[in-house]
Amino acid sequence: CGIVGVLGNHEVAPLLVEALKRLEYRGYDSAGIATVNAGKLDRRRAVGKLVNLSDLLVHDPLPGKTGIGHTRWATHGAATVTNAHPHQAGPVAVVHNGIIENFRELRAELTAAGFTPGTQTDTETVALLTQMHMAGGLSPREAAARTLSRLHGAFALCFLFEGEDDLLIAARKGSPLAIGHGDGEMFVGSDAIALAPMTDAITYLEEGDWAVVTRAGAEIFDPAGRRVNRAMTRIQIDA
Ligand code: GLU
Repeated sequence: CGIVGVLGNHEVAPLLVEALKRLEYRGYDSAGIATVNAGKLDRRRAVGKLVNLSDLLVHDPLPGKTGIGHTRWATHGAATVTNAHPHQAGPVAVVHNGIIENFRELRAELTAAGFTPGTQTDTETVALLTQMHMAGGLSPREAAARTLSRLHGAFALCFLFEGEDDLLIAARKGSPLAIGHGDGEMFVGSDAIALAPMTDAITYLEEGDWAVVTRAGAEIFDPAGRRVNRAMTRIQIDA
């Protein structure tokens, strides 16, 4: 339901949780974050209010300066820790808003290829497809693009990859997504409000856009993979 991504210069776990708090008004049943730290992908998830995730992080901190976070409003699969986002499959973690309409067909294809789902969610198919494409030799960026070309439905997505602490891939189709520009830092959010404490410089992705985001900036592409330019605007929201 709410998405955030941070390529930061400080520990991101508190920033991710703070941004998710700003998205609480949308409603949610569970929450989670993932980071890349020294190349390693790891995550923490909890059912219920964000305070449950914060408490978990006190006892079991998640270090790293690059990460993604999510508040889930379950559409497919019960509100459990297993079904909470980020969903991880091998070297990739994904957060998702919306619904992947063709997930049953994708699950069957993935299962046949030996990439067996471990959750009831539509979202996990996005992580598994990307894992499968990377196992086939594609780079994170190529693998994500190939995955996006397979998805039907309405979604906003943000991908995080093992071994890549300067890369997020963001995509939108039928669900809003904003990119935030910082000073040597970059952000992704389902809502500019979530990013307000971090930046007021926002680029909204347009329908079908996907973006390769690094600390140096964002390269934005249309569904055919052509580079496109999207304006940056200054927003005014009380941080
Ligand atoms: N369809 C996904 C799920 O049920 C995402 C729901 C959301 O937008 O939070 O996990």
